Amino acid sequence: MSGRPLNGQRAVVTGASSGIGEGIARAFAAAGASVVINYHSDRQEAEQIAREIGEEGARAVPVQGDVSQPADCRRLFDSAEQELGGIDILVANAGIQRDAAFTELTLDDWRRVIDVNLTGQFLCAQEAVRRFRRRGLDAARSSALGKILFTSSVHQTIPWAGHANYAAAKGGLKSLMETMAQELASERIRVNAIAPGAIRTSINRDAWETEEAEQELLKLIPYGRVGEPEDVAKVAVWLASDESDYVVGTTVFVDGGMTLYPAFREGG
Ligand code: BGC
Repeated sequence: MSGRPLNGQRAVVTGASSGIGEGIARAFAAAGASVVINYHSDRQEAEQIAREIGEEGARAVPVQGDVSQPADCRRLFDSAEQELGGIDILVANAGIQRDAAFTELTLDDWRRVIDVNLTGQFLCAQEAVRRFRRRGLDAARSSALGKILFTSSVHQTIPWAGHANYAAAKGGLKSLMETMAQELASERIRVNAIAPGAIRTSINRDAWETEEAEQELLKLIPYGRVGEPEDVAKVAVWLASDESDYVVGTTVFVDGGMTLYPAFREGG
């Protein structure tokens, strides 16, 4: 892959004020893209990230928005068009957890997680496709009309006790991604997903914060280390670039082998 595989590309990254989204936004900028840094509530972090990206010579614009609200999604893309001159890539990344045992899971927490992690991805993706079509193919810019990347999770595949809302949203996201990819590929819109495993971010701080917790977590990761946002970001750059032009409707697991069911290394 060349040094700047996203040169001249314009991207919206949702949930980019921390964690995996932040890592992707920074990696996209380093790869030559200009980026809308969507955030929900961390305005200062988003502004700081945009400033730092600017200092590196790339363009980044922080834009507030709740991805579960259609008007907010529209605003993200309006900003990309006004401030960056258009949109070539959507990384629908924003996601939350509201964990509870199955019978304790409130309807509010069920709905909120589905709203953000599944409906939010749907709304942003729908908006992105409309904008790609309006712009039309520009072969000098990219061989695709547009690229959409979803941040899914190993829990689109691995059932997760105590997280029924989250697992249901990610399972739904897998079907959404594959259906969109099938429906839109003939227009040269590429839709793919990354399924991260345990990546060291604030969403799973409890799982790695103490030495004991991290040791427990490592039992689930054959590769023997917790992931970092950069592990995911590198794959995102590739999937959003023309280097992966023939990759359509695929989920790339970036999980250190978590989906290999390491408990079966013995027994079974
Ligand atoms: C979750 C994390 C968890 C990881 C592996 C992710 O999708 O957000 O909390 O550590 O999956 O279980």
